[in-house]
This record gives sequence, structure tokens and C-alpha cells, in this order.
Amino acid sequence: MMAGQGSRVEGQAREGAGVSLDPRPLTLDCRSDFPILSQRVNGRRLAYLDSAASAQKPRAVLDAMTAFQETAYANIHRGVHTLAERATVAYEGARARVARFVGADDPAEVVFVRGTTEAVNLVANSWGAANLKPGDAVLVTALEHHANIVPWQLLAGRTGLRLIPCPVTDAGDVDLAAWERLLDAEPVKLAAFLHVSNAIGTVNPAREMAAMARARGARVLVDAAQAVVHLPTDVRALGADFLCFSGHKLYGPSGIGVLWARRELLEAMPPWQGGGDMIRSVSFAGTTFAEPPSRFEAGTPAITEAVGLAAALDWLEGVGIERAAAHERGLVEEALARLAELPGLRVIGTPRERAAVISFVMDGVHPHDVGQLLDEEGVAVRVGHHCAQPAMERFGVPATARASFAAYSDAEDVEQLVRGLGRVREIFA
Ligand code: PMP
Repeated sequence: MMAGQGSRVEGQAREGAGVSLDPRPLTLDCRSDFPILSQRVNGRRLAYLDSAASAQKPRAVLDAMTAFQETAYANIHRGVHTLAERATVAYEGARARVARFVGADDPAEVVFVRGTTEAVNLVANSWGAANLKPGDAVLVTALEHHANIVPWQLLAGRTGLRLIPCPVTDAGDVDLAAWERLLDAEPVKLAAFLHVSNAIGTVNPAREMAAMARARGARVLVDAAQAVVHLPTDVRALGADFLCFSGHKLYGPSGIGVLWARRELLEAMPPWQGGGDMIRSVSFAGTTFAEPPSRFEAGTPAITEAVGLAAALDWLEGVGIERAAAHERGLVEEALARLAELPGLRVIGTPRERAAVISFVMDGVHPHDVGQLLDEEGVAVRVGHHCAQPAMERFGVPATARASFAAYSDAEDVEQLVRGLGRVREIFA
């Protein structure tokens, strides 16, 4: 048993201020839903602490995809035969499921893409290319993932837009005063920011940041890649115009992701890729385009993966996002307390609110060595710059080791991580 088991909040059958809380215990026990976690790695129990890079998939998702492939798979939209109809119903059903998940009324606001990266590229190449003029500013934060930096830099070469990063504090929080100042000082047409930082775990005050931007007439894009799995999403309450996420970080498959956008914006946006399924009619004299979302889904999409994503949302909402997040919070607190006891280990960032990510460095040990030695102990962590080189630069480190937690993480994972890091310390003493 590990020290300080207080983090394992047992039971939450409390009633507070007239709010009834979920009576189920906070300590989740869903590891056995994930077949991959039952294996041994390098002869050790697998402690998978790399969920921010990609989460593992529960049996329910794997089964839903297999069942779809075995009973209903065909190409969608264009067929009149039974399987084409089944597949179309399943694919469009997944779209409606996603709309419900993000609090949108209209499934037509949900565009399926490959992932967050493609969603941002879609917005840049369609909305951005049509609306951004030389000198216009796109405001981001210094914490962004490269997926929300590079597409704007590529577009800047074509349109003359300026990409402006808002500074972050030493704690790793976005400097809100600077955010407001930049919105006032610059002609910001789009505020594009991550809700949760994959690099250091900061949860940004997304509603506040969006409200400040909207009050000045800017559009708002939220990179919710790391947020949707830990925080309930409501696109209207958030005040977003665009919201992007990936299926694979929320217990679904890779190869599928979502761009949600306000309908009136999608309707005014030109297509960005041409091909089948996105047209109304094609002739050599000229082509007319389908309504959204089809206008933005050229070619055969990731059909089975959409079904898998819908199953993942069912699974996650069955568990309860807030319940999972409370469980993860307990583990993160426990891990932070234990890591603070390890000499020479420094956690990067102490944000006001942290999601299930802990980034750290160890004196005198390269993060790659940390990662490799942990792997020998069956502990999977990510090492490197986490596709957020400007954020690494802000904190004066080229790379970190990062432990990230999910609903299936448990106290034994924390224990294994701490034990593994103790061994790293011994080896490099
Ligand atoms: N934004 C953030 C905050 C992320 O964590 C990631 C994935 N690491 C992405 C964008 C890109 O997501 P994907 O690789 O699934 O397109």
C-alpha cells in the first residue's frame, strides 16, 4: 500500500447546498475494461502513464468497431444497398452522438476530421484564408501545441497575418492581463488557444479568455484535445466559434477527430479539400458544393473510427467525466506529493488548476534516460518537447518527462512511477 492514501477519495455520497452529488465511489475500478493493460511489459505490470499522448481503448470500443466491421461495414452516403444504409446510419448516428457530447443542438455543426491537427488546418485553410488580411492578428498562448501554431504560420506566409503569443506566468498560467492587453492593442480576428496544456497540464480559464476575445469582436477557436476527456464540454457555455478534438485521446480510435463550428460560420466557409462526397454537382464548366458538414468531408472518411468514437463517448459518459476527473485529480495530488520527496526532481509549472498531467525534469538525468529506465520498470511515460517547443523554451528546458493519467490509472501506477524514479536516482547518483 502506498503512503498517503488520502488521495483515494472513497465515496462521495454527500449532499451539499442542495446539490446531489454522484453517489458512486470516486475510486474507479475500470482498469479491467482495458485489455491492453493486462499484459506485462519488460516482465513488469504495465503502468501506462502516457494517456495525454493517446489513451487506451476499453473493450466496449474495440467490440463496437469489430461488430460494425462484421455486420454493417460499407461505404457511406452513396449506396442504396442494405449495408451502405446501415453504415450511413451508424456514421451519421456517431455525428449526432458527438453533437450531444459537446452540447451542440445541430449535428450539422460537427465535421469529422482526422484529429485536432486536421481540424485546426481546416479552419486555417478555409475560414482563415477567406477572412484574414495582411496585418490581422491571430492570438495564441505560449503554451500551444505545434498543431495550433504551425498552421497559422503556414497561412501567414500566404495572407500576411501576424501570429501573436500571449505570455504565460512562471507558474504556467496564461497571463490574463496580457491577454486582455493584447486583445485591446492588436487587431485580433481570432483568439485560438488550448483549454488544457498537454505539456505542463495547465487548465486555462477558457470561458473567460473566450469572453474577452468575443467582447472585442474576435472569433474563438478552442483546442480541446486535452480538455474533452477531463472536463464536460458545452460549446455554447464556453463561447467558442470553433472547437477541435481527437478521438484517440478520449478512449476512442486514432484517425478520427472533430471540428465543431457554429453553423453560420460553416455555411459561409469555402471548402478546403475537393473530391467525392463534398459536392452538389460537378461538371467541367464548374462545380457546386454540398452543405456543411459534407462540404468539409471530401473522400471516404474514417467510418469505423466514427463508430468507435461514439462508443468511446458512451463509455466515458457511462463512467462519468466528472467522476473520472475527480479520480484522476486524487492520483495527481498523490503523485505530486510523492514526487516532491524525490531529491533533484523538479515539476515544471504550478498552475492554478492542473489537469491529469505532470511534467518534470531530474537534475543531471536526460529525460530520455528517465523514460528508458522507467520503461524497464513497466512504466510508460512520454519524454521530449511534447510538440510544444515554445512552452519548453518558456520554462528553460529542452525536454521533460511527462506522466499523464486517465480513468483507468490507479494508485499502483503512482507507486510504480515513484519506485521507478527512485531507481533512476540511484543509477545516476
Ligand atoms: N493539441 C493538443 C493540446 C494536443 O495535446 C494534441 C496531441 N498531443 C494536439 C493538439 C494534436 O492532436 P492530434 O495529434 O490528435 O491531431
